[in-house]
Amino acid sequence: MSFSESSIAFIILTWNSEDYIDDCLDSVEMLQCAQKDVFVVENGSTDNTRQLLVNRAHRQPNLHLILEGKNLGTTVSRNKALRRIPTSTDYICILDSDTIVNQKAFETMATQLKNDPTIGIIAPRLVGIDGTYQVSGRNLPTLPEKLGKASHLPMLEELALHAETPTAPLIGGLQDVGYLMSACWLMSYRAFITIGLFDENIFYAPEDVDYCARAHEAGLRVVLCHDVEITHVYQRISRQALLSTINASHFAGLAYYFKTHGYALDSRRIYDPEKQCVEKREQIRQHWKEDQDSQLLACSKERPMKVFFINPPFKAEHGRFARENRSAAITRSGTLYYPLWLIYAAAVCEDDGFQVSFLDAPVFPYTKQQSLDYIESNGGVATKLFVLDTSTPSIYSDIAFADTLKELYPSAFVMLVGTHPSALPEETLNNAKGVDAVARHEFDFIVRDVARALRDGADPCEVRGLTYRTKDGSVKSNENYPYITDLDQIPWASKFIKKHLDVHDYFFAASAYPEIQMFTGRGCLARCFFCVYPQTMHGHQYRTRSIDNVIGELSYIDTAFPDVKEIVIEDDTFTINKKRVMDFCQKMEETGLNKRFRWLCNARVNLDYETMVAMKNAGCKLIIPGIESGNQQILNNIHKGTTLEQIRAYVANAKKANLAVHACYMVGNKG
Ligand code: SF4
Repeated sequence: MSFSESSIAFIILTWNSEDYIDDCLDSVEMLQCAQKDVFVVENGSTDNTRQLLVNRAHRQPNLHLILEGKNLGTTVSRNKALRRIPTSTDYICILDSDTIVNQKAFETMATQLKNDPTIGIIAPRLVGIDGTYQVSGRNLPTLPEKLGKASHLPMLEELALHAETPTAPLIGGLQDVGYLMSACWLMSYRAFITIGLFDENIFYAPEDVDYCARAHEAGLRVVLCHDVEITHVYQRISRQALLSTINASHFAGLAYYFKTHGYALDSRRIYDPEKQCVEKREQIRQHWKEDQDSQLLACSKERPMKVFFINPPFKAEHGRFARENRSAAITRSGTLYYPLWLIYAAAVCEDDGFQVSFLDAPVFPYTKQQSLDYIESNGGVATKLFVLDTSTPSIYSDIAFADTLKELYPSAFVMLVGTHPSALPEETLNNAKGVDAVARHEFDFIVRDVARALRDGADPCEVRGLTYRTKDGSVKSNENYPYITDLDQIPWASKFIKKHLDVHDYFFAASAYPEIQMFTGRGCLARCFFCVYPQTMHGHQYRTRSIDNVIGELSYIDTAFPDVKEIVIEDDTFTINKKRVMDFCQKMEETGLNKRFRWLCNARVNLDYETMVAMKNAGCKLIIPGIESGNQQILNNIHKGTTLEQIRAYVANAKKANLAVHACYMVGNKG
């Protein structure tokens, strides 16, 4: 794809730039390409820059202004714009406001990027308005070189100048360098996603050095294109009023840079002009070629849209929060449930062709900042849809996390799912100013349809099952999404777990380790008035997967997870349909899976002895009833639908069938 057929996003910062910005933006507007978005971050200019930009934005629809009241520094400012670029962008240009660009430079650089995917950053030569060439690329700095330059001693300055001059040969018009002046960088979108956002620990400089060093560390080339040039007026901000501040922050930035990249004297560990990292670059070339061959990334228009599923952090300082436990908690036993409902929805999206990332923050357990760092370094900026799980105990924290995501990635659609927003959708949305919508009840297809709408440019708020915020700020609810009747069309959670998670991170105290949890059906016929999942998520019909589908997944787990010992069947009441349970047990024996796995399940106290024996023979070791109380009046009051006689018979039969019983009780109900 040539430059003229591609889309490009320009990132420009302004600060007292009234003398230059119009010429710069005029030259950008002259460029011929399929799609152009120009993001300008105005950093609190005291001259007429802001007004110039505002006036211009009225007549230039592709000019997106981010107006700041003060100078945020280069990294924070650029990141604000980078977080807004469309994911369909082919190229990103970091551009100074005092430049004048031209078509030839961009066509040539885009061709170079296309021909060699291992080029991370490319830049043209910079020419001043007096026609003199400016330094456009250098070797990575070292501490002695910086001290030499600062010494103002001619001999040391001479040595420093020599050390920073690029020495790699010029091949095909390109010269590899340690870093490029960030007056005009061109990157492919993919290289940007690989390198990430600017490091906000650096305020002003050396953000360009740091970014190029990170490109090298990722195995990408940083090259100066000698065949083309652009005009760079070279506005020396450092000679203006901010001199002392910038020098101080520059030195702080340098110290941070050396510390972060682990060198001060010898930069060759990161970039050695004599010795290119040929092997790593060949790997990148091959990897990217395979993507192109699979036609996933051959053209940016076909790039899968990214959806990020997040089980948010909560009280990491106290341990691992099991949000999808029936009683969400940080347990003393260390029990951590798989976030299965989130996993199923993510698997549905992945199956539908979306690029899915998944963060289960309580696993590590990550703090809020660690979670945000993870998201940022795993393509947060490319994400179009964030889906966050919730629970009632953590809801304020979940909302705060969602609000922060929206602040960081304002162009992304942020939605909450789970029990709490299903029960209180309007209240949740009214408390969550950064959240665009909440999904009510079972959300697999709601999330998928929202993702499809975002991908196709349709209105995501028209998806059934959503409660959303309108443009005027009011909250509206669409009709419910129907419950999924054919559960065999939902992908297997275990396949998703294999790809995105680690079974060794999860633990269920009543099970052998490691275990995998799964649902073979959804919903519960019973009406226990305290029970959250049937009431808020899956309703009062028991919808089931076919037994063949379940056995198929168990066979997959058998081969994909050789060390998994136990299967936890998490259906509300797996045993409610006797014939289905007997069929399952028979298939377990026929396939020999009863010898491979032990398993456990939730089982109401109306389970009979014959079924218990069949379950035992099929590998079941443990059944979990909700006994709740030894008082019939309380059972009646909570609409349990069971009797003390049933409970006594159940426990006696389980003992006879040699099944262990893990009984659940409640305290505090009215007698
Ligand atoms: S039987 Fe169990 S899952 Fe079903 S409503 Fe009662 S407590 Fe909930």
